[in-house]
Amino acid sequence: MLIVKKFGGSSVANKERIFNVAKRCIEDYKAGHDVVVVLSAMGDTTDELIAMARDINPNAKKRELDMLLTTGEQVSVALMAMAMQALDVPAVSLNAFQVMMYSTSRHGNARFKRVDTKRIQHELDSRKIVIVTGFQGVNKYEDITTLGRGGSDTTAVALAAVLHADKCEIYTDVEGVYTADPRIVKNARKLNVITYDEMLELASLGAKVLHNRSVEMAKKYNVELVVRSSLNYSEGTVVKEASNMEKMLVTGVAADRNTARISVIGVEDKPGTAFRIFDTLAKNNINVDIILQSVGREGTKDISFTVAADDLKKALDFLEKNKERLTIQQITHNEDVAKLSVVGAGMMSNPGVAAKMFETLYNSHVNINMISTSEIRITVLVAEKDIDKAMNAVHDGFAIPE
Ligand code: ASP
Ligand code: MG
Repeated sequence: MLIVKKFGGSSVANKERIFNVAKRCIEDYKAGHDVVVVLSAMGDTTDELIAMARDINPNAKKRELDMLLTTGEQVSVALMAMAMQALDVPAVSLNAFQVMMYSTSRHGNARFKRVDTKRIQHELDSRKIVIVTGFQGVNKYEDITTLGRGGSDTTAVALAAVLHADKCEIYTDVEGVYTADPRIVKNARKLNVITYDEMLELASLGAKVLHNRSVEMAKKYNVELVVRSSLNYSEGTVVKEASNMEKMLVTGVAADRNTARISVIGVEDKPGTAFRIFDTLAKNNINVDIILQSVGREGTKDISFTVAADDLKKALDFLEKNKERLTIQQITHNEDVAKLSVVGAGMMSNPGVAAKMFETLYNSHVNINMISTSEIRITVLVAEKDIDKAMNAVHDGFAIPE
């Protein structure tokens, strides 16, 4: 069996943890498997490197930033190989250049284009554990790139895909994917299985267990993932395709506090109004989420929408500047709002999930400001002060089954 094992920064944060990871990899190796290990930088190394760069030059070129940040992963893989060798197991560390993991040119946010397998296969054939730097690629100019924060997950999935691995395990400091944030929802519990699509919805809602692109890639190449803890042997959560599996009505509940509502009031009720407003925002790189338009009255209407809280000021500035052209009479906003979402592949074929969610919120006296849905998600905008109560109520209301 060929196993790809990825360990996050907290799993290799110090000497003791490095040996812990080494031992877990060696167990598989001694059972006769081929083992490819992908590592992140130790602990908070990446943050510290970014701080160092800012201190020297706040406008540092992205090329140089990538050159700097990729050193973090290189430290991890070299130390891991040394640890395994200290335990008398043959191991070799490789960076993206040595493997040849080609990516697009975009520094700081590169995507894999082609990954060679020859070198890794050669090392595996000589019965070594192969340890590869996560997070990095090489572009067509032979410069080092990075995949965006948290990108080591994507390195692991890319390697699992090209090597046709039998298993791709993502080790972290939590036991898997939970039905809700356990710090907020007291009845939250670990899921045994979740689909790629559910995972993608939850990730974009701020439940940051996996790098989003790693899940997209896993779905595309049908790589089954397991998210599990490096600190114990509990089973973890399997991320896979929905087929031949009982689709759960609701798999998870997530909150996003980083959101704000804007309303433009009294805009002209005729074709092109919405286009002009959202075009202005899009051209200024502002992502709009839930949109709600009122029924027209006396030739005008109101449009409300949400933006990321960090974009609020920028959005208000642009709207204010273009107020006349966009025929806006008044602009209001509210920052004290949060999004609450339920996600579940089963809701596609089961009507009534929305009604049930709204009933639960009604019973806990939570007012709904806006609503949006996808095939497998329902999102409502509520007052931020209500979000914890609402999350608990909705989570328990669905009594997400074992
Ligand atoms: N070390 C990188 C980061 O901190 C990549 C990763 O951890 O996945 O973002
Ligand atoms: Mg991570």
